[in-house]
Amino acid sequence: MAQPFRLRVGILAVIALAAACAREPVETRYRFMAMGTLVEVTIFDHPSQVAEAAARDVEALFLDLEHRWDPWNDGPLGRLNQALASGESVRPDPDLAAIIGRSNDIARVTGGVFDPAVGSLVKLWGFDDAANIPDQPPSSLTIRTAMDSVRPLPGIWDQPTATLNPAPGVVIDLGGFAKGEAVDRAIRLLQQRDIGNAIVNAGGDLRAIGRRGDRPWRIGVREPRLEGVLAAIEVSGDQSVFTSGDYERFFEFKGRRYHHILDPRTGYPSQGLVSVTVLTDDAATADAACTALMVSGPERWPGVASALGLDKVMVVEASGVIQISAAMKERVRLLREEKPELEIREIP
Ligand code: ADP
Ligand code: MG
Repeated sequence: MAQPFRLRVGILAVIALAAACAREPVETRYRFMAMGTLVEVTIFDHPSQVAEAAARDVEALFLDLEHRWDPWNDGPLGRLNQALASGESVRPDPDLAAIIGRSNDIARVTGGVFDPAVGSLVKLWGFDDAANIPDQPPSSLTIRTAMDSVRPLPGIWDQPTATLNPAPGVVIDLGGFAKGEAVDRAIRLLQQRDIGNAIVNAGGDLRAIGRRGDRPWRIGVREPRLEGVLAAIEVSGDQSVFTSGDYERFFEFKGRRYHHILDPRTGYPSQGLVSVTVLTDDAATADAACTALMVSGPERWPGVASALGLDKVMVVEASGVIQISAAMKERVRLLREEKPELEIREIP
């Protein structure tokens, strides 16, 4: 989440498919950088001026949340982290309290494979700044020290009196969750403007509402290792498709890959899975779930998926083998040229 404003490049493109035929439905596309990724808002068959104005407001929303939820700057979460570190009790504003409370709940439900208190560890590994990925891992001694600070957040989360007790060393990092929550809020904003057919796509992670005219929206899931598209998914109505992988932020050192999803139990990047794709209703759950399932690994992910109430999950192992739940298999079309080895996994 520590994505500085310098990444913002403003508008890249607006409106496609407009002119050819006056009666052709218009697709408005609007792109901007936020939270370290390219965000694209696509709005179908809505007056383009209204659509464009709404998309600009989505941009403003993302940039505001980026600031508010940056663990390291002087925004609300950054200030809260500073206060925790200096041993003060803190009362976050209700919105921040709610989102921290929610990610804390996910930590509990997932048995700690997802943990918003992972900030010190993320910083130690250097994955807090996408523009400055390091080239070697930290020492095991410093990793052990940072792990001590990944522990349940002390305090009470019931609004309006949520209070965090002092917790030296603990740094809250909402990076595994924030993009999803932002996408959910963006979709709500569009719906409030009576926009019923749209996608908010943050770097390949998206929530889609309505349809693209007479057909569903078509979503591509990228291959984690090979070039190109691994699978296509059609969505309509209101659904989110999120993917986490070890290819998004990583470095290689002595032939090994070190990536930005950390296992709070070991202090090291998660192992065994190279990508996880989740299809579910809300984007916040989808986002946190991808991070949690990456950490859970090739054997344990179905139990954690079940705890999160998910039934549509696809994971790719380092070997290329795809594990998929039955409900997800119904929904995806695999596009890998060489027929993949497929294992159907039951989510209990
Ligand atoms: P991306 O946002 O790149 O798609 P994720 O949604 O998986 O990827 O989030 C990764 C981010 O989540 C990391 O950059 C870090 O800020 C945070 N994070 C890393 N490990 C964990 C974890 N075990 N639990 C919660 N958050 C984590
Ligand atoms: Mg995530």
